[in-house]
Amino acid sequence: MTRRRFIANTWTDRTASLTGDQADHLARVLRAETGQIYDIVANGFVHRAEITTVRPGPNPEVEFTLHEELESDSTLPLHLLLAIFKFDHLEWGIEKATELGVARITPILARRTEKHLAQASAKRVERWRRIVLEASKQSRRSSIPEIADPTPLKTALATEASTIHILLSEVEQATPLRQALETHPTDSVALAIGPEGGWTPEELQLFHEHAWHSVTLGPRILRAETAAIAAVAVASSILSGTTFPQTSGRSPSAS
Ligand code: SAH
Repeated sequence: MTRRRFIANTWTDRTASLTGDQADHLARVLRAETGQIYDIVANGFVHRAEITTVRPGPNPEVEFTLHEELESDSTLPLHLLLAIFKFDHLEWGIEKATELGVARITPILARRTEKHLAQASAKRVERWRRIVLEASKQSRRSSIPEIADPTPLKTALATEASTIHILLSEVEQATPLRQALETHPTDSVALAIGPEGGWTPEELQLFHEHAWHSVTLGPRILRAETAAIAAVAVASSILSGTTFPQTSGRSPSAS
């Protein structure tokens, strides 16, 4: 069972406090007591938190000690397989996809990934992990997307576990992304975006063999990072109806 979740009104590294309506609800309606455990969003993350003080009355306050961070359910069930291309553009895409809620990004070593980028990527991945950490904090995500090590396409396709697999393709014309997601209701989606030079015919064949659905984002050729962001935005607008918890998107100061 999921525990009740509140968004802290104020917090420090180790403690959080609820005031106003939230504290009143906890103290009076839920009869909160010292030692009880709730989920508290503080610092942009969800923590398991233990009540240390309950003060009912006209200015109610409930104080907590923050324990470990919890996996979030505000993350979209989206796995982005992003071909490695020019790092500055790629990194912009990684940052924006994080803000938009992706759960996981796998940088793909594609045939048309430039050699020097492919070689540099094994080290660069640490920077990508720092970027998603910062973007997660900034966007008040309650979880940080996982960035896999750079992976050859073949390996990534063989191990992909999402329920539906979607290949963003600049040559597909028939099926828009939205339509593919609406005709295959799902609880998890993998989206693959090619490098600047696009996927090679052999790579397209490989996707085909693994039953990926080709979709279009429209009649224009987008830069890879634009395609990634647009695809995540479209997918999130369809998936988010069922997956965002009631607390997502509210800032602590708004409550
Ligand atoms: N080199 C190609 C374009 C590659 S664009 C050319 O100039 O013809 C890089 C990636 O962005 C593509 O592999 C695809 O995944 C995605 N992409 C770009 N435009 C798209 C569109 N209109 N619909 C779907 N995906 C697109």
